[in-house]
Amino acid sequence: MKIAFFNTKTYDQKYFDSINKEHGHELHYIPSHLNSETAHLIQDEEVVCAFINDSLNAEVLTTLKNKGVKLIALRSAGFNHVDLVAAKSLDLPVVRVPTYSPYAVAEHAVGLLLCLNRKIHRAFNRVREGDFSLHNLMGFDLHGKTIGVVGTGKIGQTFINIMLGFGCKIIAYDICVDEECQEKGVEYVTLDSLFAQANIISLHCPLNEATHHLINQDSLNLMQDGVTIINTSRGKLIDTKAVIQALKRGKVGLLGLDVYEEEEAIFFEDFSSSVIQDDQLSRLLTFPNVIVTSHQAFFTEEAMQKIAGVTLSNITEFANSGLIQNQVSL
Ligand code: NAD
Repeated sequence: MKIAFFNTKTYDQKYFDSINKEHGHELHYIPSHLNSETAHLIQDEEVVCAFINDSLNAEVLTTLKNKGVKLIALRSAGFNHVDLVAAKSLDLPVVRVPTYSPYAVAEHAVGLLLCLNRKIHRAFNRVREGDFSLHNLMGFDLHGKTIGVVGTGKIGQTFINIMLGFGCKIIAYDICVDEECQEKGVEYVTLDSLFAQANIISLHCPLNEATHHLINQDSLNLMQDGVTIINTSRGKLIDTKAVIQALKRGKVGLLGLDVYEEEEAIFFEDFSSSVIQDDQLSRLLTFPNVIVTSHQAFFTEEAMQKIAGVTLSNITEFANSGLIQNQVSL
C-alpha cells in the first residue's frame, strides 16, 4: 500500500525502511506534523501513519477521508490525539502498536528517579568544573520507601517489578485490580490514600477525562512534604501550574518529567538557538530538583524495531484481509 508517514525523523526512516523490505509497501515521508494545515499534503496514499504529537481531529480526519485514505496507522501505543468519534463516523479505522517495550518506558522512569534522588545530573556538571565537593548532593535509600503506582498495566507492572527489586513497598491505584500484582505483594488503595502514603509517585495510566490533571492543587495538598513525582505517561496528567507552586513551597521535593502538558509544539525539535516561548516549561527548567526529558522514554532500539514491525504488519494485515487486529475502539 502507499503510506504517507507524517512527522518523521531520520531515526524513524531507518527502522521503517529496513523492516519494510519484508512488506514491500511504498513509503512516503513527510517531515511536517499532521494537522489541519498539512493534511492536504497527501496525494494518493491510502494509509496515513502518524505519531503522538500529530493532531488527528475531526477536520484532519475528514480531509484525509475525502482524499481517499482508508486506514490511520498510529506508530504509538497512546491514541489520545485522535478524535475516535469522528474516525468512527467517517468509517476510518485506526490501528496502533498496543505494546512495544514496557521495559523502555519503565526503565526510563527508574532512570529519572535515580538521577534525581542521587543528583547525578548535578554531580556530572560539578566534577567537570573541577568541583569534587559533596555539598547538597545527599540522596536517600530507595530501599524501604513506599512507591505509589497509578496504573498497573504493562508499563506500571514492569516498573513495579524493578522497584520490588530495590526493596520498596508498593501501593497502587488502578480502575482494574490485577491479581498477579497482588500476589507479588502490591497493595491496592484508593487514589487519595496513595497520595497520602507514598514517598514516590509514578504515573502509568492513560490520559482520559478521568485522569486529566490527576495531579492538581487538591491532590498535591494530600501528599507528603518533599514527595517525588515521576511522569512518563502523558503531560496532561499533571496541572503544571499547580506543580510549580508545589515545587516552590517544597511540597514536591523531586520531579521527573518525560512528558509535559504543552509538549506538542516543543518536544522532538531543536530549539537550542531560539528563545523558548513557553514560560511554564522555562520555569520548570530552572529548578535544580526537576529533570525534564523530551518524551524519550520509548526510545530504545528494541522499541523502535517493534514499533516499525507492528505498524507495518498492521498495514499488511489490513491490505491482505481487511483484518485489523490492533484496531482502537471507542
Ligand atoms: P496499559 O493499557 O497496559 O496500562 C494502563 C493502565 O492504566 C491499565 O491497567 C488501566 O486499567 C489503567 N487505568 C485506566 N484508567 C485509569 C484511571 N482512571 N486511573 C488509574 N488507572 C487507570 O498501558 P501501558 O502500555 O502500561 O502504558 C501506560 C501509559 O504510558 C500510556 O497510556 C501512555 O500514555 C504512556 N506511554 C508513554 C511513553 C513514553 O515514551 N513516555 C511510551 C509509551 C506509553
